[in-house]
Amino acid sequence: MKAKDFFQPEQSRPLWAKLTDKILAENAVRKYKDRVGVNNLIHPILQTWHIHLNSAQLPDSQKRMMRVAYKHKLQLIPVEITPEMKRAMPFWYHCSVKGNIRPIYSDEWGTCHREVHNIKTVGDMLNHTNRSNTHRHTNRINCACSNCHEDRRAGCSNPTKCRRNTHSKLDYLTPAWDPRTEMPRTAHAQPNDNQQGSNHTQENEPSEFQKAKGIKNHSNDPREELRIFTAWDDHTGGVATYHALQMPIAHNELPRDQQETETIVYTDGSCTGNGTLNAKAGSGIWYGPDDPRNTAIKLAGKGHTNNSGELTAVLVAIQQNQNAQPLKI
Ligand SMILES: [Zn+2]
Ligand SMILES: [Zn+2]
Repeated sequence: MKAKDFFQPEQSRPLWAKLTDKILAENAVRKYKDRVGVNNLIHPILQTWHIHLNSAQLPDSQKRMMRVAYKHKLQLIPVEITPEMKRAMPFWYHCSVKGNIRPIYSDEWGTCHREVHNIKTVGDMLNHTNRSNTHRHTNRINCACSNCHEDRRAGCSNPTKCRRNTHSKLDYLTPAWDPRTEMPRTAHAQPNDNQQGSNHTQENEPSEFQKAKGIKNHSNDPREELRIFTAWDDHTGGVATYHALQMPIAHNELPRDQQETETIVYTDGSCTGNGTLNAKAGSGIWYGPDDPRNTAIKLAGKGHTNNSGELTAVLVAIQQNQNAQPLKI
């Protein structure tokens, strides 16, 4: 059982990984289970709940897997947070919240959101809010619109209030992850926009910046954005500072007085789907705990292999340390 396979994007995960999701949730520390229910403990890294690693019910292989993930500080560090990615995030115990979420999760509407409306993701929250955006809807408790009728029948005591309450909950997300400032690209596709269809295609092309930096086009699955080796940058609300491939990296050259000192750097590369057309490789460069030079790289282009991930890490480490004498990799 390998962490690498488990922390894959959803469509590439083996069957055992899906079963493991359930087992990990069952073995979460009790307070998390009690607050939101096992079904809302979806992902141990995208969310902040903790697994009871000494639990007798948790198989040893899964304990080892999670210890590896925690040891290497596996984190959600996207190159770009897309609107789709924001919506796909589990809402409860979202890994990027501010303030104490305990009271809002346990209040009347938090319970209604989970138990009556089955809200699991940030997108579910937005969809719930939007159920009030119909012509027939009024803000009265006994509104006769079909959405309110349906919600009341499911057990919601006041659908209008319940939907409005989603905003006070979404307010706890850090601005970078708050989905209300922009809607998904696909939701923009009004009939009139079809005349400018080419613009939409361009939106999904890598930007000049991305091309220049060798950054691949954005993905919409937060599971594709889990990385190790890189530190959080608080100024950007959880988006990693992205050190990309450059030749040479002039600003990383050491000042003259620091030259000719020994530099030790650790490199690693990995590849998911090695040997297949969809193989995707990444590289990690590590100098030490919390070192700002620690770098995670997602390779651009196609035809990746394990070796290209490994060699890119070595190449970039050399580029970063052109004046280091000696450089030990
Ligand atoms: Zn209504
Ligand atoms: Zn409700």
